[in-house]
Amino acid sequence: MSVATNSPVPESLQPFLSSPKKMLIGGKWVDAQSGKTFEVFDPASDQVIAEVAEGEAADVELAVAAARKAFDQGPWSRMSGSERSRLIWRIAELIEEHADELAQIETLDNGKPFAVAKAADVALAADMFRYMAGWATKIEGNTIPIHLPYAPDAEFHAFTLREPVGVVGQIIPWNFPLLMAAWKLAPALTTGCTVILKPAEQTPLSALRLGELILQAGVPDGVVNIVTGFGETAGAAIASHEQIDKVAFTGSTEVGKLIINAATGNLKRVSLELGGKSPNVIYDDADLDSAIAGAADAIFFNQGEVCSAGSRLFVQKGVYDEVVAGVSEIAKNLKVGSGFDASTQMGPLVSREQFDRVTGYLKAGVAEGAEAAAGGSALDRPGYFVQPTVLKNASEDMSVVREEIFGPVVAAMPFGDESELVNQANNTAYGLAAGIWTRDISKAHRFAKAVKAGSVWINCYSVFDAALPFGGYKQSGWGREMGHAVLENYLQTKSVCVSL
Ligand code: NAD
Repeated sequence: MSVATNSPVPESLQPFLSSPKKMLIGGKWVDAQSGKTFEVFDPASDQVIAEVAEGEAADVELAVAAARKAFDQGPWSRMSGSERSRLIWRIAELIEEHADELAQIETLDNGKPFAVAKAADVALAADMFRYMAGWATKIEGNTIPIHLPYAPDAEFHAFTLREPVGVVGQIIPWNFPLLMAAWKLAPALTTGCTVILKPAEQTPLSALRLGELILQAGVPDGVVNIVTGFGETAGAAIASHEQIDKVAFTGSTEVGKLIINAATGNLKRVSLELGGKSPNVIYDDADLDSAIAGAADAIFFNQGEVCSAGSRLFVQKGVYDEVVAGVSEIAKNLKVGSGFDASTQMGPLVSREQFDRVTGYLKAGVAEGAEAAAGGSALDRPGYFVQPTVLKNASEDMSVVREEIFGPVVAAMPFGDESELVNQANNTAYGLAAGIWTRDISKAHRFAKAVKAGSVWINCYSVFDAALPFGGYKQSGWGREMGHAVLENYLQTKSVCVSL
């Protein structure tokens, strides 16, 4: 691993950073009711970059009232699918027009390399809005032939309507701040819902800029409300609010369970995108060059702060040493540094807390008997930098294999044959994703069928497209994001029966 220099924050961001960071409620930018703010840090330097309004229950109350009003009686409630589609498409265009600025904000706030932020986060966010714009005009029910056994001569015309679920609370994490906002907002808007969005407290900035673009696109007041603040206060108030019809959450499995409990008061609908500990499998018949590069990318992309990261690497015994050496070589050569340095390939972790968590796991892994074939510690410099790490001699009982680290740390384990592998791969409470590298198409398909995961990548990893559903089996979540599958989260079905 080599180290890139710390690059200064782009001048062009200064106007955005120096303006007060307020919340968006009912189409207006407002301070928190309490007047409180919280600090947001640059993870590459540990310096404060912004003070953001600290929303709490009282602010959620106002946001819910605005969203309720917009849903029940505003122009939004009367808008056609075609009109909504135009607005959503316009948001996509505005994201693209501001791609550099949004990517800079993301790099500054989250730490990820600018090139990644622009090519992945921003481009995929625009794509998500554009894809969802198309669905606004295609939400339709069915006509259903019915007949009553106790009144065989009665005739009916029966059909279903697909209606928006209503006011939606959306709580998102810090690893892809803009993209997670897009994954949540786009389907809610296409189905005609109204929203209270709470970005993660670590990374609220790109959602606030997106809020400005959403207003600029012409989305009516109160349709999208953005409350910045902490999970235990603002987030919890959203999850338990009686006037919110549905909550969509992305974050840790632990908090996902709290959301479910909080949602029971009014039985609001819940969808969850949670953690993962995804298996990535390399067979001895794989194209090893691409498998090794793919395995490194599966864990080091976005500093390993990816819910579907390939954090458990299973390698067939005959090629185990070669693969571990290959992935370790890539890890050692990755350029780690400020996301604003064009040569940087991996940025800092998002926060001091995440840094402590990941370095804690590195120590625990070694204490439990794993060996660092590459990396293994933090970088001695300001900011929350850790080394890309490959742990070998890992075994299934270790915390680094069982628990989600959410950092650039992969645990490599050997396997013998296919049946052993499937058991090992499924030996986890999670089920978000899985990868397999082999030239044997039958083996690949058998694995895809046997593995309990919501996404399976064959001879590739981390392939995301707005059209492809994504979500978890087991404790990795409820419901799907993206594709037409996500519309289910935001629609409800009404049966209408007319006597003829
Ligand atoms: P987290 O669950 O603590 O926080 C996520 C969001 O939930 C934040 O906005 C936070 O403010 C809010 N929150 C926290 N406590 C809350 C509460 N009691 N009530 C309501 N909201 C609350 O997650 P984290 O540790 O900050 O983020 C990392 C985790 O997120 C990882 O475990 C990772 O797997 C998961 N994640 C999953 C996905 C996915 O798509 N499945 C994507 C990104 C992150």
